[in-house]
Amino acid sequence: MAILVFLEVKDNKIRKQSFEAATYAYDLAQMLNMPLKAVCIGNISGEEVQKAGRYGVEEVYQIKGQDLDKFLESPYASAVVAVAQAVNAQHVVVSQTFNGKSIVPRLAIKLGVASFSGVIALPTIANGEIQVKRTAYSGKTIQIVGTKSTKCIFSVKNNAYKITENPVTCSIVDFEFKPSAEDRTVTVKEVSKLSDKVSLTEADVIVSAGRGLKGPENWGMIEELASLLGAATACSKPVADVHWRPHHEHVGQTGIQVAPNVYIAIGISGAIQHLAGVNASKTIIVINKDPEAPFFKAADYGVVGDAFEVVPNLIQAIKSYKG
Ligand SMILES: Cc1cc2nc3c(=O)[nH]c(=O)nc-3n(C[C@H](O)[C@H](O)[C@H](O)COP(=O)(O)OP(=O)(O)OC[C@H]3O[C@@H](n4cnc5c(N)ncnc54)[C@H](O)[C@@H]3O)c2cc1C
Repeated sequence: MAILVFLEVKDNKIRKQSFEAATYAYDLAQMLNMPLKAVCIGNISGEEVQKAGRYGVEEVYQIKGQDLDKFLESPYASAVVAVAQAVNAQHVVVSQTFNGKSIVPRLAIKLGVASFSGVIALPTIANGEIQVKRTAYSGKTIQIVGTKSTKCIFSVKNNAYKITENPVTCSIVDFEFKPSAEDRTVTVKEVSKLSDKVSLTEADVIVSAGRGLKGPENWGMIEELASLLGAATACSKPVADVHWRPHHEHVGQTGIQVAPNVYIAIGISGAIQHLAGVNASKTIIVINKDPEAPFFKAADYGVVGDAFEVVPNLIQAIKSYKG
């Protein structure tokens, strides 16, 4: 028996969220006194794969092959299932990224086990029931849910579990896996990046702005602030709806859900639909001229002031600090 964690690869690197999942899986493995193993799909270097050892992974089953160099739900789920069966996995841990979310239901069906998404804490096991704390209703509530299934898939919410190093010696096993014809009914022909900017879901820092900016011509200072901070830019829904900003920047319940370390919200009121997509951020900084703006209730730091004064001053201060 083992705990298995799925390590997701992006641009030839293991994603940060996978190290969160690995930390969770390590703590789970310690709790159940089981070894921690991982599955990693992609032709990435051994050096990169071995980074998993920092987070307590003793063995990584690496699957290479041209058919699997680009993410696709069906073959990836089958590959993870093949490793889960090979290592006799008790539980499988996945991070709740877009890709993670898309394979979890498939894993649960193929393995015939229970699955929990949005997991934010280690499970408790008592009287034959596994109980898990998870977020629900777009992050507005916390649920405790249980199952009698002895095996589970845990999908760990981004930023909910602190990455901790637990170094061990890590070995790599080359695992042979060929997707079946059934898994290859869809193929990825090409992946085109919308831009070379930092991607929203990967960003450590996000500078986001809303209708308080008055018009698209005023986004120069937002871009400048983001570039000084190495941040990605985002916006509220109405801003994307009126084409002040591209739709792929729209965050919230109906847009992209983000979980950066720092989310800076400028001229955004903080409607619940917006908060639903950003409330997993570690630190929220709000700049709004209305002291009653609802966003201040969700903020760690707030500046009550006019964005057209605060942001240029902030840019100036960062420039002199850097200088
Ligand atoms: C089903 C549904 C789904 C939705 N999904 C989403 C979603 O995914 N994402 C999303 O964002 N919204 C979503 N919305 C819309 C949401 O309800 C709000 O209408 C929207 O978030 C408001 O955008 P905003 O904060 O940019 O604009 P506003 O509500 O107009 O707020 C502008 C803010 O800017 C401040 N401001 C004005 N001038 C300045 C200044 N000079 N300096 C500083 N501050 C200033 C104001 O005080 C105000 O707080 C959804 C709505 C529905 C009904």
